[in-house]
Amino acid sequence: MKAIRTFTVRPVLDARLAPLDTLASNWRWSWSRATHSLFASMDADIWKEVGENPARMLGALGQQRLDELAADDDFVARVQVEHERLNVYLRGDRWFQQLVDPKPAHIAYFSPEFGVDGSLPQYSGGLGILAGDHLKSASDLGVPLTGVGLFYRAGYFRQSIGDDGWQRESYPLLDPYGLGLTLLRGVDGTPVEVSLELPGDRRLHARVWVADIGRVPLLLLDSETPSNTEDMRRVTDRLYGGGGEHRLLQELLLGVGGVRAVRAWSELSGRPQPDVYHTNEGHAGFQGLERMSELITHDGLSFDAALMQVRASTVFTTHTPVPAGIDRFPRDLIATFLDSGLFEDLDATRALALGLEEYKAGDHGVFNMAVLGLHLGQHANGVSKLHGEVSRGMFGALWPGVDTDDVPITSITNGVHAPTWVHPAIKGLSEQVFGDAHSDRHDWNDRGAIGDAELWAIRTAMKGELVAEARRRVAASIGADTPSGIAPAWIETMLDPEVLTIGFARRVPTYKRLTLMLRDPERLTRLLTDPERPVQIVIGGKSHPADDSGKLLIQQLVRFSRDPRVRGRIVFLPDYDIALAKTLYPGCDVWLNNPLRPLEACGTSGMKAALNGALNLSILDGWWDEWFDGQNGWAIPTADTAAGDEERDDAEAAALYDLIEHQLVPTYYDREDGVPPRWLAMVRHTMTDLGTKATSDRMVRDYVTRLYVPAAVHAAALRADGFAEARGLADFVARVRSAWTNVRIESVDSSGIPDQPQAGDTLEVRAHVRLDGLAASDVAVELVYGATDADDALAGDRTLQPLTPLGDPVDGVTTFAGTLPLSITGTFGYTVRAVPTHPQLVSPVELGLVTYAS
Ligand SMILES: *Cc1c(COP(=O)(O)O)cnc(C)c1O
Repeated sequence: MKAIRTFTVRPVLDARLAPLDTLASNWRWSWSRATHSLFASMDADIWKEVGENPARMLGALGQQRLDELAADDDFVARVQVEHERLNVYLRGDRWFQQLVDPKPAHIAYFSPEFGVDGSLPQYSGGLGILAGDHLKSASDLGVPLTGVGLFYRAGYFRQSIGDDGWQRESYPLLDPYGLGLTLLRGVDGTPVEVSLELPGDRRLHARVWVADIGRVPLLLLDSETPSNTEDMRRVTDRLYGGGGEHRLLQELLLGVGGVRAVRAWSELSGRPQPDVYHTNEGHAGFQGLERMSELITHDGLSFDAALMQVRASTVFTTHTPVPAGIDRFPRDLIATFLDSGLFEDLDATRALALGLEEYKAGDHGVFNMAVLGLHLGQHANGVSKLHGEVSRGMFGALWPGVDTDDVPITSITNGVHAPTWVHPAIKGLSEQVFGDAHSDRHDWNDRGAIGDAELWAIRTAMKGELVAEARRRVAASIGADTPSGIAPAWIETMLDPEVLTIGFARRVPTYKRLTLMLRDPERLTRLLTDPERPVQIVIGGKSHPADDSGKLLIQQLVRFSRDPRVRGRIVFLPDYDIALAKTLYPGCDVWLNNPLRPLEACGTSGMKAALNGALNLSILDGWWDEWFDGQNGWAIPTADTAAGDEERDDAEAAALYDLIEHQLVPTYYDREDGVPPRWLAMVRHTMTDLGTKATSDRMVRDYVTRLYVPAAVHAAALRADGFAEARGLADFVARVRSAWTNVRIESVDSSGIPDQPQAGDTLEVRAHVRLDGLAASDVAVELVYGATDADDALAGDRTLQPLTPLGDPVDGVTTFAGTLPLSITGTFGYTVRAVPTHPQLVSPVELGLVTYAS
């Protein structure tokens, strides 16, 4: 008989242990080494059984063991110390508090997935883990941020690999009560519910779970509530479960329900309502429409003024240049929802237009969530320098006429949360050598502080841990499949901590090329089985359940790894998740990444490996394109000139084998006094240099100073005096839009150019501009100059210099003038452009209105 509901009954804690409840219900335990080991020490076996989760641990431990611990003075003293540390952590001033005003009061951060810890599987890969790291660093830095997401009953799937090498999925159900989450309740104690009106007289209700991530609350909306019909209960059943309407309902709940939840939470907790909204990828885009509807209904704003207000306060981060990674819905499906009154008072046709691909290469039957995100977010970014560039090209069609370099999408390179991802052994060493576990100023190059032998010993020990864990996992997965239930003997010698170890783990979309290393199986076999200087490879990765091509790649790899010639030297570890990742990154000497450039927007696993002293071996894509410096690893050259995909893969695979054979192997195996000096020099450099750059602390500081502060400032300016600037900006935009087709730079004269211009000369420039009824103050006329290439194009860095209007228009033409100092030598050119200008525009070309002299 199946129970219709199961829950965890918690024992009553003795007063001496009562703080354990508080410690278990704040996820800071997951990155605090001491709190983590406090729980683990209560019972090592049960700790493993409960998936290393403190709340579950307290439920599973049993009264007898709890009584023993309550009587153990040492243990009780540790509990008190950790409790006090948590309190200090939650109260004190941090980086954000030291920032001078103006700064945001409260940032709402929306994401479809959050990877906080292995025991809270609400993520599928990089996007979610990045969101988890973002919250943790916001907490560490004292940034007033609230996470908003969904609570998926089944989370992402668990992966196992069948005898045939084919991926199997299972979806264990989560019990939020037993995990360390609390239900958001109103003042009267009843659970807070948000609800959405849907077409066909349906309503979607959701409750809200709160997970405390240090100082940052994470609100997770859950459709599993008695108020819902059976259908509606299934909306949050699993992460990216279905397609079509199921997915749309999830995104509506995230965006619309998310705004309502954060409103309720702010009110109940006494925080100010958010002044900045950040959407991590396009899935939460409906939050902007919900807020526009609020402004129209409650504040009497027009559609356009509401749009200005929402744009000013919204940060949109795009995460992928892969079209399949972007959510697109049939236009008619969205139209049905917009027509149904879901967004009160919002003009459905105009709202729809905000997400349509109404540009040349677009599909007019499609509503695109990235397009919506860019229309609703005045502050937009990609996630590495290269990805910023790629995004400006990819979305440039939304700003027709604007030079690709000027497309208003900037970039902030991702980072990873060091306290989560750095192995306890390295944290311990840091504390001992540098006095603290984390800082971006640790100098690992200092051989006086830490010797080669010691560093090598720690690296080798971490590898030993990976080897042991890999054997355990493979034994468990194979053992379970054999009739005897006993694992075969070869597993006991699988992998070797002395051997050069390459790691490769990630989701398995085609562009990540899981099987590139199999391109020449004979060559790979020789590398793996070299009698003197072998290489071993540890692999992990999940394919999306609906993606059979990804499953085929996994199957190919698994089959190769079972060949007795290479068995034990190349190993596929099933169920790649945060828990496995934490053992995998520190246990590898080298982290491999071979995506099809430039499709990896950033990539973060290599950063996590680097912070643990692994060297990267990667295609120059994402973050590696930016930070590879010749001493922190190796760059696999990209075969851009290859005739086709096959040739490209062949060339890049050959380069990969060459690097392993001729660079990695000798550097690793050349020893002095038992350690590889050249290798360790690279390890030291990697840990020092990337330790300052690759962290999510650096990333969140960048978000705060470069995007959140400007967004808060713009939003406040627009909101002041009954939204006077929001209305003013909307009027301005309407005015310049209608006039712009007739704005023309009639002519430009530059007098006094000598025949042989020299550095130090000055040019006089006058531009005669027809403004078609616009005031000279509505328009900026600018000189654009810089070095030119062979085609007379202004290539590379350009400088903008404003020209000043000279008096009133004559025959409708206004003259703008200025001087241009010739400070660059070499080929040089200039042009003149006119753009609208208004103090509340972030980028002069964000309206897509720009006119050049011709
Ligand atoms: C970091 C991480 C990822 C993302 O790695 P990429 O390098 O961006 O592919 C995916 N899954 C897990 C479990 C991770 O820890």
